[in-house]
Amino acid sequence: MIPYSRHTIKKDDVSEVVKVLKSNFLTQGPLTSNFENTIKNYAGANYAVSANSATSALHIACLALDLTKDDIVWTVPNSFVASANCALYCGSKIDFVDINTNTYNIDCDLLEEKLIKAKKLNSLPKVIIPVHFAGQPTEQEKIWKLSKRYGFKIIEDASHSLGAHRNGEKVGSCKWSDICVFSFHAIKIITTGEGGIALTNSKKISKKMRIFSSHGIVKPLLGGSKKKFKYYYDQKLLGLNYRMNEIEAALGISQLKRIDQIVKKRNIMAKRYNKLFEDTHIKIPTILKENLSTFHLYQVHFHPLLNRSKFNYFFEYMYKRKIYTTIHYQPIHLLSYYKKLGFKKGMFPNAEQHSNSCFAVPLYDSLKISEQKKIVKTIKNFFINI
Ligand SMILES: *Cc1c(COP(=O)(O)O)cnc(C)c1O
Repeated sequence: MIPYSRHTIKKDDVSEVVKVLKSNFLTQGPLTSNFENTIKNYAGANYAVSANSATSALHIACLALDLTKDDIVWTVPNSFVASANCALYCGSKIDFVDINTNTYNIDCDLLEEKLIKAKKLNSLPKVIIPVHFAGQPTEQEKIWKLSKRYGFKIIEDASHSLGAHRNGEKVGSCKWSDICVFSFHAIKIITTGEGGIALTNSKKISKKMRIFSSHGIVKPLLGGSKKKFKYYYDQKLLGLNYRMNEIEAALGISQLKRIDQIVKKRNIMAKRYNKLFEDTHIKIPTILKENLSTFHLYQVHFHPLLNRSKFNYFFEYMYKRKIYTTIHYQPIHLLSYYKKLGFKKGMFPNAEQHSNSCFAVPLYDSLKISEQKKIVKTIKNFFINI
């Protein structure tokens, strides 16, 4: 079976993890802060707070921006549920902005239209969470400009885009956002098993995220004068235990050494797909010329005339031929939990159309050229046969 994605673990990764297992610290040791420093230096941000998943990182990001039940958060419908759930964890209201039909990222014109309307209705969002879909950076500088005009904060969900850049500016530098979150889930660009991180250039935000990630407790402090030793800690806020451990951090540090190589290789493989899909009805991904994508997903578009039942049959056809293709994503607003909140079919037509006609073809480090050819040939055969 060819999966749609697969992690890559090298010998060095294994030996770094084994070293931790033989060391004095499994949690709250030096490697977690080492990992944070390496990531923030790589991306060019001032502060980094690691977490046990990107979901947790998104949650502490929302908490640090003081989201409450009186606030509204906007994200896009074609993302993983965590991009929206994090707002609901804070009791805030969630709404969505439709995507651009070329990049499948948040559509900045639709965003502006929605902001104009929201301003009139006095229902502007406090936070917007753009998602770098499939690893392609969002048009962050435009969103940043709008954030200044309409007074919202930005959390980038960059779960797909560690190693991507736009106009030479690395994703994660937070030049055009308040916080940027990466995921290290097994199938993301690099992995720690499970894990995530939130980057920011604000000392205040980073401090808050740190406290929320560790029970709301302020680190054990040396109290009193320098001579008198007094040990104590205090809980300032209602926090959680979202900390990353040393085993995960060691794996992350080791994997991060290869990041540029990984992104380069994924781009080469994506270009190969582009060529193989020439002269077919398949629409290949559009990457804006300012952007370098990580190709976390190689997502293609079906012939628009293909109806839904044939589209469903496609997955079965591929599966029977031992190739696993997937949809990214089923629109969040049409999932049962969100429909109960009042969202309906037809509200975000671009995202809905996208999910009805797009699929991701397998792309991972160990995927062979012969397998890429087999995948495309199988897809071509499907079209000949329907
Ligand atoms: C994977 C993913 C997440 C969640 O990441 P975890 O580390 O698994 O919690 C959030 N948003 C997007 C867009 C993702 O792809």
